[in-house]
Amino acid sequence: MPARASDAAEAAFARLQVSDEFADRLRTAHRELTVQLPFVGDDGRMRVVTGFRVQHSNVRGPFKGGLRFHPTVDLDDVRRLAELMTWKTALVDLPFGGAKGGVSVDPRSLSARERELVARRYIEAIGPAIGPRTDIPAPDMGTDATTMAHLLDAYSRIHGYEPRIVTGKPVELGGSLGRTVATGRGAIVALETVLDHVGRTRPSQGGDVTIAVQGFGNVGQHAALEAHVRGYRVVAISDVSGGWHDAEGLDIPVIEAAMVGGAELVGLDVPGATPIAAIEPLYVDADVVLPAALGRVIDAANVDRVIAPIILEGANEPLTEDACTVLESRGVTVIPDILANAGGVIVSFFEWVQGANMLAWDEAEVLARLDARIAAATRQVLRQAGEGGSLREAAMDLAVRRVVRAMELRGNA
Ligand code: GLU
Repeated sequence: MPARASDAAEAAFARLQVSDEFADRLRTAHRELTVQLPFVGDDGRMRVVTGFRVQHSNVRGPFKGGLRFHPTVDLDDVRRLAELMTWKTALVDLPFGGAKGGVSVDPRSLSARERELVARRYIEAIGPAIGPRTDIPAPDMGTDATTMAHLLDAYSRIHGYEPRIVTGKPVELGGSLGRTVATGRGAIVALETVLDHVGRTRPSQGGDVTIAVQGFGNVGQHAALEAHVRGYRVVAISDVSGGWHDAEGLDIPVIEAAMVGGAELVGLDVPGATPIAAIEPLYVDADVVLPAALGRVIDAANVDRVIAPIILEGANEPLTEDACTVLESRGVTVIPDILANAGGVIVSFFEWVQGANMLAWDEAEVLARLDARIAAATRQVLRQAGEGGSLREAAMDLAVRRVVRAMELRGNA
């Protein structure tokens, strides 16, 4: 089978008439690693899990992208997500390329000690292919700042102390203030820029806007809280266990306060709210639906149940290509993942810059810079799309054009 980029990228290559000499370099990854990660479990027995790192493109800067721990991770997934990072970093104009890592393991089935061992084995295995100017991992599904601390430590033991090898680190180890909230906050800032554009009044200016959030991990929780603080009615939320619906709006700070210690939504007492299934926020009557969990949750089979006029893609690839086409043909505004969830990698870049300069910005400065960058990228996408055009296509066109331009300028003598 001839090499192919994602459907969205191939469509952009065709729209922009990118020649095969450039497109071919984006149709396969620069480097793909599959590694064996053996570790001794708490029961004293040796276990082996498989890890991946796919480095898609570094024409605009070092490879950059998260590391996820999830039982369904395979090489194909990581490949697609690595390519997506190339477009994401280009769209928000960061001097980075695209990469992604994954380990096919259920982190919830591991103890804290076992998760640490998997992280250490992973960095030992891929260490020779990464570096602070080569490839910089970050958190993603199933990993967090603690995982990054273990990656940093394992890498530094071999190569000398090097905090810039990862972003999304604990602040005490050189992480950036604002990194944890960045993806959720960025999604809401992108949404507000789109609301302004379509003439909807923001809640902070007196408008009434409802939002439903599917997935309550790092992205979903912080987006829900940010929306609540800005005056949105968050009418539905869910995690893997199930969720809650309240047309009057859920009290997100109270719910989040009750969730400390890893509690699931289903076990909570949420007065006035109706229990719903985990998938249900996608289908409720709301102005905005924010899928913020796994990929491909809206596909051809369930797209007809989605009634919201705006979809804000907090997760990576939450819509299949088919579903997206159906929604856009119905006039639904889809704010694409490479824009909507770029807040995380933007603050990763800020973290990397602060590390390089041995300085630390205060939180207000980080958030102001994040907001400005997301809003500017969103305005560019809206301009590129023109009246009623697809934001997803516009975003891809801007990103692909930047990557191809970098290839042209760098040459290949
Ligand atoms: N995992 C996040 C993403 O998919 C952040 C990546 C990063 O900060 O490098 O965008």
